[in-house]
Amino acid sequence: MPKQWYNLRADMKEQPDPMINPATMQPATEEDLYPVFCKKLAHQEMDAETRYVDIPEEIQEMYKIYRPSPLCRAYNLEKALGTPAKIYYKFEGNNTSGSHKLNSAIAQAYYAKDQGLTCLTTETGAGQWGTALSEACSYFGLGLTVFMVKVSYEQKPFRKAVMQTFDANVIASPSNTTNVGRQILANDPHTGGSLGCAISEAVEKAVSTENCRYVLGSVLNQVLLHQSIIGLEAKKAMDILGEYPDVVIGCAGGGSNLGGLIAPYMQDKLTGKADPRIVAVEPASCPSFTRGKYAYDFCDTGKITPLAKMYTLGSGFIPSANHAGGLRYHGMSPILSKLYHDGYMDAVSVEQTKVFEAATFFAKHETILPAPESAHAIRAAMDEALRCKETGEEKTILFGLTGTGYFDMTAYTAFLEGKMSDYVPTDEDLQRGFDSLPQVPER
Ligand SMILES: *Cc1c(COP(=O)(O)O)cnc(C)c1O
Repeated sequence: MPKQWYNLRADMKEQPDPMINPATMQPATEEDLYPVFCKKLAHQEMDAETRYVDIPEEIQEMYKIYRPSPLCRAYNLEKALGTPAKIYYKFEGNNTSGSHKLNSAIAQAYYAKDQGLTCLTTETGAGQWGTALSEACSYFGLGLTVFMVKVSYEQKPFRKAVMQTFDANVIASPSNTTNVGRQILANDPHTGGSLGCAISEAVEKAVSTENCRYVLGSVLNQVLLHQSIIGLEAKKAMDILGEYPDVVIGCAGGGSNLGGLIAPYMQDKLTGKADPRIVAVEPASCPSFTRGKYAYDFCDTGKITPLAKMYTLGSGFIPSANHAGGLRYHGMSPILSKLYHDGYMDAVSVEQTKVFEAATFFAKHETILPAPESAHAIRAAMDEALRCKETGEEKTILFGLTGTGYFDMTAYTAFLEGKMSDYVPTDEDLQRGFDSLPQVPER
């Protein structure tokens, strides 16, 4: 297992544009971030120079419980597709959170504990991030309050039960425990809630509680840094096998698993050592890369985080009820956005019925029931392998299998019963989101 994370920014020819403090409209400083992030994480967020960052012993100890994660060759899938391509996947679903999110949750909980904080707050929609953070906080003895979007709270009671098993205080949002929650409930007592609302409640709770901070599970530079462990392990395992991927594929919500998986391969590209094709896969219903704008926007729907330059649909964009909850995010990691903008990677979008076709096909042949998010990467990997079948190319494909789908059986059922639809936003729908972009003076 690697003992250091890799910071992609250290090898980028051009840096992403700086974060902007919305209060001053000036580039944010590390100190500006202290009220939001604990100090070491604020430092990681800003640090574009340190190439390798030591993983603290305590974090390594918890990583060792479930890492290194498996790198598998999908022999049965290859056979079923009749492709000459070799397909490898890096599986991050072998922990209770069922996703890669635990890799950053552990780091964020550790640094909070190290600074003497006693509790954290966060929001969760689909539930993977809330579960991962519950595990990490329980391990390091920190209190955790999770504001869970009310519809999810009611539709996914087992997710809630898992978080409670790890002692998290799970509250359906909007709630009457915060001012903002009470206000929203007064206006609409029967609302099912939203991520934006859950974020606002989590932030209010964090700033009004002593020794408490709010934490985010994707998009941020620090999260990509922590997730680099995925790619570093994958590269090491492939090196041992004498393999090097021609194509590296990952699903993209906020970009954290993709940024982590591709990190060492992007390093090879940036330093001229190799030139693998790198592909981001996003849902057609929430197409940040393929149809978004490269602009300054808020990272959160609650408009409290600093502004970041990224591919975005606008923080006011409300994606349709796609079943891949973890990919329903309006923006994209600023690091990946810059690399995409500069032509270092490609992006494709896929419709959800195609995604579930791939998910069920993969499950039957590889016996892992994938998360709907992960199945986006499976779809693109299968399409690449089928192209190889036509051309006879013996490509090596690597994709990220970010998690398992046991809590997504409502979605699988909808697909199996033929009740799943493919919503694709119109240009007018997207324009409404772009209209919500903040005005940022040219710098
Ligand atoms: C959250 C999540 C994603 C998407 O998040 P990224 O930050 O884009 O990686 C993908 N897969 C699973 C299983 C998730 O839980």
